[in-house]
Amino acid sequence: MAPIKVLDKYFEKYIDHKEIDAAIEKIAVQMEQELAGKNPLFLVILNGAFMFAGDLFKKLNFPAEISFIKFKSYSGTQSTGTVSQLIGLDQSIEGRTIVLVEDIVDTGISMEHILNYLEEQDFKELKIATLLFKPNAYKKEFNIDYIGIEIPNDFIIGYGLDYDGQARNLKDIYKIVP
Ligand code: IMP
Ligand code: MG
Repeated sequence: MAPIKVLDKYFEKYIDHKEIDAAIEKIAVQMEQELAGKNPLFLVILNGAFMFAGDLFKKLNFPAEISFIKFKSYSGTQSTGTVSQLIGLDQSIEGRTIVLVEDIVDTGISMEHILNYLEEQDFKELKIATLLFKPNAYKKEFNIDYIGIEIPNDFIIGYGLDYDGQARNLKDIYKIVP
């Protein structure tokens, strides 16, 4: 299939939406077993995780709530290593089971920053769910409870993931053509 052009770069199709859906289904089944009856609060990390969170949330057949938080860490195709710009919690999470929802965990720096921020809150337990995980880029120690698909260190776009704000609307995931 011919590569697509986004801004100045080319990308080729990498993960079909059917494979994405199957990965999310698997996470939903695992969550049903572990989280049903706990009325978990899903905290979706904007912007990238919005599509994954929406599709995952529809598959959950138990009471749960959803809210959104926002940080910024990426510039272009490189992780900047610093995280800024927070839209914070708008409700108490005291005593709650929290599920952080990410599109992708790369180095883990962003997630660690969010964990540090949440540590000051008096929640009951915290789980982490990510659609994509780059194990070879991961530099941190914290456990990730729900992983959809593990991928190599390629820069990817689509299904919520962007290149400088573009391509989040693609229903499949594409990887950069070097
Ligand atoms: P980390 O802090 O290095 O783990 O990066 C995590 C954040 O960077 C994610 O929330 C994504 O928004 C973004 N990110 C990481 N890898 C990619 C990628 O391959 N494509 C697009 N965004 C990415
Ligand atoms: Mg993100």
